[in-house]
Amino acid sequence: MPEPSVGDIVHYVSYGTPGGEYGKECRAAVITAVVAGTDRGKDEHGVTTAPAVVSLAVLNPTGMFFNEQVAYEGSAEDGGTWHWRADD
Ligand SMILES: [Zn+2]
Repeated sequence: MPEPSVGDIVHYVSYGTPGGEYGKECRAAVITAVVAGTDRGKDEHGVTTAPAVVSLAVLNPTGMFFNEQVAYEGSAEDGGTWHWRADD
């Protein structure tokens, strides 16, 4: 996985509503801070053992919000996580 850096545009996965009226959606987001990157927490084989945690400015169709401590998840499966656009 590429190292995340400030200014990268990624996807943030919105939470769906509990009743299922709205599902999870990929939203555009700009990385505003890298809290823990992929170059940290590697084991002796170079395998990343810690998730890439970033802060995001999330661009929803009807507004923006700012989120700190967002964990990387390599898919759109889990709300409240981020992934690269190429992961879709
Ligand atoms: Zn996505």
